[in-house]
Amino acid sequence: METPLTPLAFARRTRKLYGDREGVVDGDLRLTYEEFFDRCDRWSSALQAMGVGRGDRVAYIAPNTHEQLESFYAVPQIGAVLVPINFRLTAEDFVYITSHSGAKILCVHPDYVAAVDDVRDQLRGVEHFVVLGKADGRKGWREYDPEIARAGPSFKRADVKEDDLLSLNYTSGTTAKPKGVMITHRNAWMNVVDTLVHFHITVDDRYLWTLPMFHANGWTFVWIITAVGGKHICLPKVEPARVFDLVRQEKVGWLCAAPTVLISLAGASPEARGEVPGGVHVITAGAPPAAATIERMEGELGWEVTQVYGLTETSPFLTICEPRPEHASMPAADRAVIKALTGVEMIGACELRVVDGDGKDVPADGQTLGEIVARGNVIMKGYYNDPEATKKVMGDGWFHTGDAAVMHPDGYAEIRDRIKDVIISGGENISSIEVEGVLLRHPAVQEAAIVGLPHEKWGEAPFAYVVLKSGASATEAELIAFTRERLAHFKAPHGVSFVPELPKTATGKIQKFVLRKGAAAIVRQ
Ligand code: AMP
Repeated sequence: METPLTPLAFARRTRKLYGDREGVVDGDLRLTYEEFFDRCDRWSSALQAMGVGRGDRVAYIAPNTHEQLESFYAVPQIGAVLVPINFRLTAEDFVYITSHSGAKILCVHPDYVAAVDDVRDQLRGVEHFVVLGKADGRKGWREYDPEIARAGPSFKRADVKEDDLLSLNYTSGTTAKPKGVMITHRNAWMNVVDTLVHFHITVDDRYLWTLPMFHANGWTFVWIITAVGGKHICLPKVEPARVFDLVRQEKVGWLCAAPTVLISLAGASPEARGEVPGGVHVITAGAPPAAATIERMEGELGWEVTQVYGLTETSPFLTICEPRPEHASMPAADRAVIKALTGVEMIGACELRVVDGDGKDVPADGQTLGEIVARGNVIMKGYYNDPEATKKVMGDGWFHTGDAAVMHPDGYAEIRDRIKDVIISGGENISSIEVEGVLLRHPAVQEAAIVGLPHEKWGEAPFAYVVLKSGASATEAELIAFTRERLAHFKAPHGVSFVPELPKTATGKIQKFVLRKGAAAIVRQ
């Protein structure tokens, strides 16, 4: 017997077993799972009344609110496809993604309604605009809550197949147009179950939404927490003081966050921190966390950090930096270095290799650089309406990640860069991540980014951008000397620029292409 693998099955189970438990908290609003799923059903019914059917796309521009969480159930259970859009993108991107996905319905948080109104004439395919709050007199918007109140709870549940599309998640498109990653019900189910194999999250756990839900479906935690009957604590905006408050008030046990968020939490002032309850489990990915950041999170906050790795295209998890019993007795600084490794393939995710240009495994020597490739049940169906790009990344039966890594003898992979960011100086590879990791050990450094710049003699040379901790000071010469003492000299930055902040994507990735342009201008002067 076979039933389709879909995360909707988790909703069915939790409603039956834990309907009367509080499932979702959003500001003052507290919903039991029964109340939450009733709202989802009513929204499904309203969408069907608006003519949304199987395979139709429904797009959202919203931060982490209960309305956004509801979309992950209401849309797929009628067989429609969810398109969660990064709300920090430009209006031009909103137009591109909404049009490319062919969305019929666009649901928008009040903060973004004006931006959408400005480009409304370019959104001709959208049949209904819905504001996830009050329209405040604006014309042409349906209001979400009255629609839900009006709709009955009955709707026609779709008979989904596991290979049906569940969501289209657009890549951040820093260098090209965003691509629509096709995630199936099966892909998402795999990521949920696999995550639960590795992380022991239970019905008693409370999860804080510090990771955007639009980012790879909140790394599937929109379903993971529901699957165990745990509690979602929504958080529309990440501010360290608010995070610490909620951790205390709601007894949060788990959160996911990109390393940049960890840096801001570890660097929060004592007033913003207040009394910090220990023991919070932090899952980090999206960019490489430096060992120094992990050490601070564990040492100063008493929180436990585990790194995972993946891409939107891989549902998203491929690896976990699996703790082994022998790591437990190591000195904290050594353990943090291990925890900063990318890790090993997850049990249900994939087979993972690091290969050279001919597709052969590089030696597991912790030195030879290759590309991470993977195959397994979490790999996307392809890029929406883009067979060329799909063929390019997975045409040979392996998904090519574009991440440059080494393989250690014990099977742990370690990402050293995006392939396109690897710096080659005098014929030697320089890992920007390695140099950044050293700079982050300097007591005055809050954040660092290394980029490669053209150099007459060496081909390329590393250049550093540094954000200092508030009230701290350091000179360019001092930081260069600090790296030269700890690394081969050719890896040390040739120049340092001090900046108030680093340009980042909404998902915490440093935009190195922006820095490279700026650095070139500084060096030319
Ligand atoms: P996204 O699809 O936006 O989640 O971005 C995926 C990319 O983020 C990967 O290809 C990596 O370059 C980077 N990434 C994600 N997790 C990690 C990690 N744990 N360590 C290093 N880079 C990561």
